[in-house]
Amino acid sequence: MKKILAVTLLLFVGLSHAQTDQRLYNIIEAVSADRIEKDITTLANFGTRHTLSDTLSNTRGIGAARRWIKKEFENISKDCNNCLEVSFQKNLIKSGVNQRITKDVWVVNVVAIQRGNKYPNRYIIMSGDIDSRVSDPNDFTSNSPGANDNASGMAGTIEAARVLSKYQFESSIIYLGLSGEEQGLFGGQGFANHAKEKGWEIIGVFNNDMIGNIQGVDGIISNTDFRIFSEPVPPTETEEERKMRRFYGGEVDGISRQLARYVHKNVLTYMPEMNPMMIYRLDRFGRGGHHRPFNDMGYAGIRIMEAHENYTQQHQDIRIEDEISYGDVLEHVNFDYAKKLTAVNAINLAALAWAPPAPKEVGIGGIVAPSVKLQWTAVSGAKGYKIYWRDTTSPTWDHSRYVGDVTDFTLDGIVIDNYFFGVSAVGENGFESVVVFPNKIIR
Ligand SMILES: [Zn+2]
Repeated sequence: MKKILAVTLLLFVGLSHAQTDQRLYNIIEAVSADRIEKDITTLANFGTRHTLSDTLSNTRGIGAARRWIKKEFENISKDCNNCLEVSFQKNLIKSGVNQRITKDVWVVNVVAIQRGNKYPNRYIIMSGDIDSRVSDPNDFTSNSPGANDNASGMAGTIEAARVLSKYQFESSIIYLGLSGEEQGLFGGQGFANHAKEKGWEIIGVFNNDMIGNIQGVDGIISNTDFRIFSEPVPPTETEEERKMRRFYGGEVDGISRQLARYVHKNVLTYMPEMNPMMIYRLDRFGRGGHHRPFNDMGYAGIRIMEAHENYTQQHQDIRIEDEISYGDVLEHVNFDYAKKLTAVNAINLAALAWAPPAPKEVGIGGIVAPSVKLQWTAVSGAKGYKIYWRDTTSPTWDHSRYVGDVTDFTLDGIVIDNYFFGVSAVGENGFESVVVFPNKIIR
């Protein structure tokens, strides 16, 4: 009996290829809370980074901040044999397009591209925001350190570039500093347009907005909880696709939701001490963030964020009122927590950038049959494919089967009505694409 168990265990270890990859643990280890603290401090010390603030000073305002971020990416690039393509990407926003744009302004993003060696035109994006604000959204002179909102996301993005630039990836990674967030998501909109014009294939966007606060206004303190927001289906779906969903399902299986599940699963595998909370909505109730403009154009995108917000420390003039100290200042940021959420991004950027592309078309059939048939388009660079399924009420892909290098497979003894299904591509190195929900009906 003992012997059989040992053999079974050995088989399990041997066959369950790529359960984990040591490099992802090394990446988690390499992320530095000290460097994140240093960068958040530098960003907060620009006084204000309001989108409409001064651009000429080298010590105060958004101009100084974006030039410093660009310089920082350039320094990182020097350390990796110029592995980053660093640039500004800018869009002129005209006075009066909304109430928060009171003068013509160049909304300037900072871009650092780490080019993939196999799929240079496929991109995974990690973003943070450059800009900050106080109580009055149009006040562009008052001190607005924006330490958590969103120097934390920006510093995390810079730190991820430092860590991941030590590796070579198959797909390209973009480390992105976006501006104009607080004035109406202008930086993200401009960059999403830019990507569309260039014909870039964007696999996904990880928008990091507030990744440093562990003490919530709800009284909960947690340095392990965090949220992954994703919209259910893309707003760009056609009327025909919407109609099809009524008969074939997919209400909670859009591309952004699959990206959220991908991140959720990797975190549970590689950082089991964390508590990732998948939130089934685009963003917080009635509020917005910089993944939305990408979603608007049909790209997969999620928001990664602390779980317990503190509203006395967001968009507030620095002041003390009724013994509460308001303001988004450095002392409220937990740098170790920001490090953890940066690591969450870094391992998922790496996993996706090492994975083959997802199958483009996935067909499914099995009406009135005791089996489910799946069929998909071959992916060059894939070693094989993995079929996933789950109960219709489950948020996560709970069952899976690796089926090898084939382009169709029949799951016997499973009734199609009672589960949802998907397919991912698996690379030689064991890394997997995002799961694709069937987009075609087959016989
Ligand atoms: Zn904000």
